[in-house]
Amino acid sequence: MTNKKTPNKAQIERLLARRKQHESQLNPELITEKILRGDKTALSDAITLIENKIEAKRTIGQTILSNCLPHSGKSIRIGITGVPGVGKSSFIEAFGTHLTEQGCKVAVLAIDPSSEISKGSILGDKTRMIELSANPNAFIRPTATSGSLGGVAHKTRETILLCEAAGFDTILVETVGVGQSETEVHSMTDFFLLLMLAGAGDELQGIKRGIMEMADTILITKADGKNVKPANLARTEYKNALHLFPAKENNWIPKVETVSAMENRGLDKIWKIIKTYDQMTHSNGWKDSNRKAQQEYWMKESIQSQILEEFYQTKGIQDKIKEITNDLNVGKLTSYQAAELIIKYYKKQK
Ligand code: GDP
Repeated sequence: MTNKKTPNKAQIERLLARRKQHESQLNPELITEKILRGDKTALSDAITLIENKIEAKRTIGQTILSNCLPHSGKSIRIGITGVPGVGKSSFIEAFGTHLTEQGCKVAVLAIDPSSEISKGSILGDKTRMIELSANPNAFIRPTATSGSLGGVAHKTRETILLCEAAGFDTILVETVGVGQSETEVHSMTDFFLLLMLAGAGDELQGIKRGIMEMADTILITKADGKNVKPANLARTEYKNALHLFPAKENNWIPKVETVSAMENRGLDKIWKIIKTYDQMTHSNGWKDSNRKAQQEYWMKESIQSQILEEFYQTKGIQDKIKEITNDLNVGKLTSYQAAELIIKYYKKQK
């Protein structure tokens, strides 16, 4: 005898509805159809699928991605970086809102390198960009939190494609400017925006020369109140500094502007710069060839990560690595010989 109560009709109906909803969340054709209609819930579901830890779900995500691929690409992809506190989220909130007022559909994605190390997040807190998240013409997705930086970046790149298929024509990809993640963002965007503070040295802002070289425009943030003068001064200084960098392959001359997210100033100027850049690189063929080069880069990255994953999952490989490392540490082998032995073992197991 069981003392479980038989469910009543309403409960059964609820259960059936839930199952139906669950099934529709896993149906790639249905989700694709909804994404192409601009459904943000379906878009979120698809991103969750491609980020999923369960392989079967990731496979569904990949099917959706393939379905969406012919509908992607029609956007301007903008990378945004700068140290914590420079004003990235305030700028994106103001700029994103401004763009939706111009009729754009804006997606905001993020790559948070901190999540890999600390399992916490510099970028991902939910209180950011409150106004923009409520905007029907905007879509905000926090960073994927699992995996290596390369893995997270790869998922962001796939998310860009899904957002484009859903009709988002302006994609903002944000990252903290403190390490390798800027390079990843640069390699998935058309235009790269570097946010800087006035009055703080480059070293203080942790911005490496290489990052400045990548910038298509430097924006001096918080140019309001007492900060207007130092911001204008910084603008001149950075303009002069940029002259010293080698010319860009696409002939673009990087710009330096000031902006105030608080007072909504400078936003239109920046949008004009980006549009001019987009038109120029579109007509001189660079946008297209750069995107092709980026695709190749990501393909090669994918090969490397898939092969590495396969390698480390080989049966007995961890024990073999330990064993050989011991020999290496007692000086029986050189690093090269040790690597060769491990790879030999891997090939034998395949
Ligand atoms: P993030 O860490 O780069 O995303 O920076 P936030 O957008 O969170 O901004 C950091 C701080 O700078 C916050 O206290 C903001 O209120 C302030 N801030 C951001 N933009 C402006 C601006 O345009 N003017 C002024 N005065 N303060 C700003």
